[in-house]
Amino acid sequence: MSKVFITSALPYANGPCHLGHLRSTYIPADIYARYNRMNNVEVLFVCATDEHGTPIAVRAEEIGKSPKEIADKFHKMIKNDLDACNISFDYFSRTTDPIHYEIGQNFFLKLYKNGYIYEKTINQPYCNECKRFLPDRYVEGICPHCKGEGARGDHCESCGRHLDPIQLEEPACLICSSTPEIKESTHYFFKLSHFEEYLKEWITGNRELPSNVKNYALGWIKEGLKDWILTRDMEWGIPVPLEEAEGKIIYVWGEAFLGYISAAAQWSRKKNKPWEDYWNDKAVHFIGKDIIYHHAIFWPALLMAYGCKLPANVVAGEYLSLEGKKMSTSKNWVIWASEFLEKFESDILRYYLVINAPLNRDTDFSWDDFRRRVNDELADVLGNFLHRTFSFTDRFFEGKIPEPAELDEYDEEFKERIKAIPKVVSKLIESFKFREGLIEIIRLAKFANKYFNDQEPWKAVKENSKKAANCLYLCNQLAKTLAVILAPYIPIKAAQIVEVMNLENFETCRWKKASEFVPAGHKIGKPKPLFKKIEDEIIKKEKEELYKNLKDMKI
Ligand SMILES: [Zn+2]
Ligand SMILES: [Zn+2]
Repeated sequence: MSKVFITSALPYANGPCHLGHLRSTYIPADIYARYNRMNNVEVLFVCATDEHGTPIAVRAEEIGKSPKEIADKFHKMIKNDLDACNISFDYFSRTTDPIHYEIGQNFFLKLYKNGYIYEKTINQPYCNECKRFLPDRYVEGICPHCKGEGARGDHCESCGRHLDPIQLEEPACLICSSTPEIKESTHYFFKLSHFEEYLKEWITGNRELPSNVKNYALGWIKEGLKDWILTRDMEWGIPVPLEEAEGKIIYVWGEAFLGYISAAAQWSRKKNKPWEDYWNDKAVHFIGKDIIYHHAIFWPALLMAYGCKLPANVVAGEYLSLEGKKMSTSKNWVIWASEFLEKFESDILRYYLVINAPLNRDTDFSWDDFRRRVNDELADVLGNFLHRTFSFTDRFFEGKIPEPAELDEYDEEFKERIKAIPKVVSKLIESFKFREGLIEIIRLAKFANKYFNDQEPWKAVKENSKKAANCLYLCNQLAKTLAVILAPYIPIKAAQIVEVMNLENFETCRWKKASEFVPAGHKIGKPKPLFKKIEDEIIKKEKEELYKNLKDMKI
């Protein structure tokens, strides 16, 4: 049996999940994991909260708590958000787990011993008021590349570039606002420049890598890769495992990736199975586009330095805007996963965020569009097809799938399409075109509704019972197929179809069996509507609440 190691980007433990996170990373990864499980692939799907770094340390300082307290709180919230969206991790860990510290330190040491980490004394911003160095987020200023304001010591949000804190123009200490002075400090550098050619080779030679990841990464390589400072002068983090490096920690991006590995290692201990087998077979990372640099440049270079197999693919979901405007958590222009999922079923959110746009394109969440798709597609197309099939079977065939007679041309066409759909969707999911797979499913459900209308079984049942029987025979077969192929996308609804149709003995969790027909005479259960329409009033209320934030914040 083949294996796959699937990861989704580590959510940073300083805030809960919003719809953008779910769209770009967690839902696509989950679809892929569920699909593979249904195809007899052994899946190890892991994630963890990323709990180090200066944003958490700064916040802790600002509110007088410990960084761990903050991480504890958000780890719990994020875990709840992802559970509420039905993300089927095999293990969800945290980077403050002792195993992660052990793995992080060993990784660092091996790179050091392999000669890929070296020491160098450099200038760093130092705050005389606070009496300390100002790594990363402790210092803010103007980006030297794009002149964007509020650029942090390690990263510019406006242009997405990785920064060196002393490059910042007009720097200021984030805690006391004073202008830092420049002081020397010895740090550990990773020889990223050494891997430039290797990375280029890996990226151009990897046919699986999606074009957005490829293009960004090759662009950065073209600009030239500089060696990368891998340590910080601060307390919150994994201590550098060298005696002479007291008071220094490993930079959060130098260890966060290993959260994938440490989560897997914990899973291994529990299950008594080696995670390495999964990694070595095929590793696929799902990330948001903001961390393409990290996953297409840093991470593979670190892995090359360590001497282990590189991931097979890095799939990057792009951004989700809200009602046409960039999401902003600080301006409260955002929809939090927990609030949304308290009011709406997770499956309709999963449906909407997938069908809305291809993963490799930015897209928008709009309440009106959400309502339109749920009502017109889920309720009117899918829900209607299923409900009329089940109700009709219940009413006119005593709840039993009727015996088919000779099929006419139209029936045959429908039958062929039912038989073909699992393969069509399968190909699309395997090439990470999740949206296109779902579109094919909805297209077939639309066709099925037309077929149902054209066959007029309500008339035929009195005038031409064979025609009615063929129609309901085939519609029930499609319903069964849908119960299987919708499962990666909308698992709860798919399980409800299984339940209504009494399909528990039909291996509906196996993709291969998706278009295997259920024998005539099989008794289905009592029909119940599976998809509800969303009332206009509800959307109006949601929009009012959201736009109230906009007014309050005067964006
Ligand atoms: Zn910039
Ligand atoms: Zn200061």
